[in-house]
Amino acid sequence: MTGTAIKRIAVLTSGGDAQGMNAAVRAVIRTGLNRGLEVYAIYEGFQGVVEGGERIKKMTWDSVGGILPKGGTIIGTARSDEFRTREGRKRAALNLLQAGINSLVVIGGDGSLTGGYIFHQEWADLLDELVAEGQIQPEVRDQYPVLYLVGLTGSIDNDMIGTDMTIGADSALHRITEAVDAISSTAASHQRTFVVKVMGRNCGYLALMSALATGADWVMIPECPPDVDNWEQVMVERLKAGRSAGRRDSIVIIAEGARDRNGNPIGSTYVSEVLEKELGEEVRVTVLGHVQRGGSPSAFDRNLGTRYGFAAVETLLQYGPDSVPVMIGMRGNRIVTTPLKECVDLTRSMETLLANREYDKAMDLRGSSFKEAFQTLKTMLRALPHSPQPGHRPLRLAILHAGAPSPGMNTAVRAAVRIGLDKGHTMLGVQNGFPGLIAGDIREMEWMSVNGWAPMGGSELGTNRKIPSGSDYYGIARAIEDFKIDGLLIIGGWTGYQAAYNLHQARGSFPSFNIPIVCLPATINNNLPGSELSVGADTALNSIVEAVDKIKDSAVATRRVFVVEVMGRYCGYLALMSGLATGAERVYINEEGVTLRDLVDNVESLIRDFRHGKRLGLIIRSEAANPVYNTPFMVALFEQEGGELFDVRQSILGHLQQGGNPSPFDRILATRLATRCIDYLISKAEKGSSESAFIGLQGREMLFHNLEDFPRMVDLVHQRPRTQWWMDLRPIAQILSRPGPWIEEMEKEFQI
Ligand code: ADP
Repeated sequence: MTGTAIKRIAVLTSGGDAQGMNAAVRAVIRTGLNRGLEVYAIYEGFQGVVEGGERIKKMTWDSVGGILPKGGTIIGTARSDEFRTREGRKRAALNLLQAGINSLVVIGGDGSLTGGYIFHQEWADLLDELVAEGQIQPEVRDQYPVLYLVGLTGSIDNDMIGTDMTIGADSALHRITEAVDAISSTAASHQRTFVVKVMGRNCGYLALMSALATGADWVMIPECPPDVDNWEQVMVERLKAGRSAGRRDSIVIIAEGARDRNGNPIGSTYVSEVLEKELGEEVRVTVLGHVQRGGSPSAFDRNLGTRYGFAAVETLLQYGPDSVPVMIGMRGNRIVTTPLKECVDLTRSMETLLANREYDKAMDLRGSSFKEAFQTLKTMLRALPHSPQPGHRPLRLAILHAGAPSPGMNTAVRAAVRIGLDKGHTMLGVQNGFPGLIAGDIREMEWMSVNGWAPMGGSELGTNRKIPSGSDYYGIARAIEDFKIDGLLIIGGWTGYQAAYNLHQARGSFPSFNIPIVCLPATINNNLPGSELSVGADTALNSIVEAVDKIKDSAVATRRVFVVEVMGRYCGYLALMSGLATGAERVYINEEGVTLRDLVDNVESLIRDFRHGKRLGLIIRSEAANPVYNTPFMVALFEQEGGELFDVRQSILGHLQQGGNPSPFDRILATRLATRCIDYLISKAEKGSSESAFIGLQGREMLFHNLEDFPRMVDLVHQRPRTQWWMDLRPIAQILSRPGPWIEEMEKEFQI
């Protein structure tokens, strides 16, 4: 139900471009069309509104076909000085009125959203002036009394207060991480130091998170400058200590807005000169410029843009005449709306805090996970652990993997080992999962034994799918006793959770099992209870999306339908999210099942669409969607029914989904979760408690659930959580993938 009688909306992108803006534009346009609105795109940002005419174009369903993989923004962006003037904005208002538009979705950074807000505030006055000047009739003013405005944050900097993520930040982090990984490999070959400068304006997000993700050795961010004046000396000492401890390279990451505690900017050239002089070796500077804005958007940014765009239209439709403009943002995994002015004002206040050197307040404004990440980073980049306090009783904590390999497992081990060692405990690595534990294949892990593990795919400790049973328990009990294990961290998937639960239940018969056990979710399937995301799922999603982009590209000259099968076992997460990110027209998941009726509908809509000129069809199917209507069956069915209209190919993506270096998100998640897990084990083991848990990301929080709750929280038959947050995204996938019922009216009209 519409709060206002909005019939026409327009969308524009403004300021710096960011990957994922296209997904947002596509979602605004298609959601709008689906809701029966007329949708316009304004080319070249606010400059396009000032110029009007050809810059304001009516969009159709197909105007935004095939744009999800594209970086930048297909409708162009610009910086407009004219729009900064009242005269310019008056012209802009006139142009919008001439096109009959007073509902606007602005996608951009804080500058663009400020511009939008000012325009909104002035709207009534501008219209009065236009009436007074005779440029519009009073009736027009009365017809469009308010400018309805929704803001979406598109900025690689992730600097906007009011959302966890801005569109483009995740992709920028991908570009930086890829670059630093590549630089690290060459730096290590020559024993070199690299200084890498990253973007971010006043925000240290990209620098901090890329340092955490790549295992960099030093980082400088605007919000938390070094707390001493002789920071150069401290930095040099730290890097030297790292080398003596065995590191072959040093990577220093500097945020664009980095400064010392007196507010003086710290530049990359200065840092490299200091290091060259003090370290006596070659120092190379890499200023990562526009590559950070480039390339195809990550799966996350595509889906973020899509969700924001969808929410923008829904929000516009709910607006009443007195509604204040809002910004769409995300907290945890939930879409939230916040008054635009509040977001912009808070974001702007960062500038003042930094100028006044109120760094504690600046860190507070960034939020608790930013602060926590910085704290963790400080430990990670130490050359050696802190010396234990006198009288400290070291615990012996073991780490093992269970289940299929998942990208990010190594990152989690690295963090766990370093956090544990830094707190004065002995860290034990179990080789090859539970069989290794049973066989006593366990080694002590040193600080440097996990050096370079942050970016590594696969699993250095080795993983195994075996769930111990029967006589295995004697072997496990012996290993726990022989190695005097005080606590166990299991990093893995369903196998690990099930095994942990079984061990915990067997405490009565095996007294040595009375130790705390904690499970860290690491599986590409994302099918674990208590966590909205598991380590590895984001990497797998990106691998799928990249593969599907290529598959789609391969079919330029033919009329073809692809049926792509993805992993996930009984959990449809990878299928749905990759379908959303690649624009699949149909996604089949086990949670919904597959009926004959679905297949018939699917065939009929394919036939109809291909008759109307469609050239490419994409269907994504989760591997266990239905055992009878499997991928070869569906391919054969569609091929037969498609006749001359299209041919059908299957693509079963297979193990590429479990491989590859972990994505930045997975590395960060692995590090954050592992840090918490080690703290948990220490606190329980120190108390002699055998309380055990699994950790998870829920919203913005990392929470522990008692291991006893495992069976209650899952569907044991299908090995997935009872509730899955992402199921709510299915309507968006449906709405955006195919034109709604209105196509039937079009067919009638054109007698197709
Ligand atoms: P970003 O949106 O990425 O922060 P800018 O700050 O460059 O980028 O803003 C983009 C555009 O938004 C500007 O070129 C201008 O047209 C408009 N804009 C920004 N600030 C204002 C303002 N205070 N008043 C009017 N328009 C503004």
